Amino acid sequence: MSKSSEPAQTSGEPGASSEGKFQNPVAGFGVTFKAMFKKRLTEQYPEQQKTTAPRFHGRHQLNRHPDGLEKCVGCELCAWACPADAIYVEGADNKDEERYSPGERYGIVYQINYARCILCGLCIEACPTRALTMTNEFELADSSRANLIYTKEQLLAGLEEGMVDSPHAIHPGMTETDYYRGLVTEAAPGTVRQVAVSKGEQPPAAEQPVAVDHQEVEA
Ligand code: SF4
Ligand code: SF4
Repeated sequence: MSKSSEPAQTSGEPGASSEGKFQNPVAGFGVTFKAMFKKRLTEQYPEQQKTTAPRFHGRHQLNRHPDGLEKCVGCELCAWACPADAIYVEGADNKDEERYSPGERYGIVYQINYARCILCGLCIEACPTRALTMTNEFELADSSRANLIYTKEQLLAGLEEGMVDSPHAIHPGMTETDYYRGLVTEAAPGTVRQVAVSKGEQPPAAEQPVAVDHQEVEA
């Protein structure tokens, strides 16, 4: 006779020992008892915050060159790479009198919608200028969907020593390529911020068109 044809000896069948009848219901608590003596993994957040891993995928940052000009060239590659359609970019042309990046174009509008973003990092892989990177900041929760749309002003990196806020002129004697070669290490002496009329600011009073009172002219 083969082994498989032998009757199974389970606790519910006639013939099960009285010892087995007692042990089986208690055995179910074995996992619970073992867990009681293990090291606790509960984290006391937000009172105690753990340090994240160095390459943690947190909130994004738009980086600057060492003189303060922006690295973003408004190419939209990050937006095309995003699987969640969370990025919106509009590019615009730089002008000598109002320059935001060393090259031809810059990002005039840049938004990331954190209600959609899954922090996968594909956008930063797609960026050709390393303008877009991710920080270790993870506290992004908000009760308003509108607040979860981060604008360029919120995402742009702060100013470090040696930087002048954009827009301002390109470093004298340097080209766009020199910026990416790391030859520009700080703003040139005398670099001043240009007037940013395209960001909704008013042009200086001297450049305002002079209103003509036609009634007075006719009189
Ligand atoms: S991290 Fe991923 S989901 Fe978030 S904006 Fe970048 S590509 Fe889109
Ligand atoms: S962040 Fe990078 S990929 Fe996105 S628009 Fe700017 S330069 Fe292009």
